[in-house]
Amino acid sequence: MRFCPECGSALTPRGKELVCRKCGYRTELDENLVFSESFDHSMDKTVVADGKRYGASAAVLCPKCGYLLAQPINPRKGLYRCRACGHVFSVK
Ligand SMILES: [Zn+2]
Ligand SMILES: [Zn+2]
Repeated sequence: MRFCPECGSALTPRGKELVCRKCGYRTELDENLVFSESFDHSMDKTVVADGKRYGASAAVLCPKCGYLLAQPINPRKGLYRCRACGHVFSVK
């Protein structure tokens, strides 16, 4: 079971995506499962310190504010949204 990083609701598998029925958040299924599982363990301290759920966050530096955690919006295109300032940027 995976949970929405935006609102904490359970994500529903739909095709190749996991979809949040509550807020509309969606993430691609396979890449994120592998990615977030390996990621979560190494970032445990950050998750605890921040007090939030980072199920689908990636360790990507925001070019605007320098914050380390970003939410993958479209992993195939390398699109991320900064957890701190909400800035959307692409990583190649
Ligand atoms: Zn949600
Ligand atoms: Zn930022």
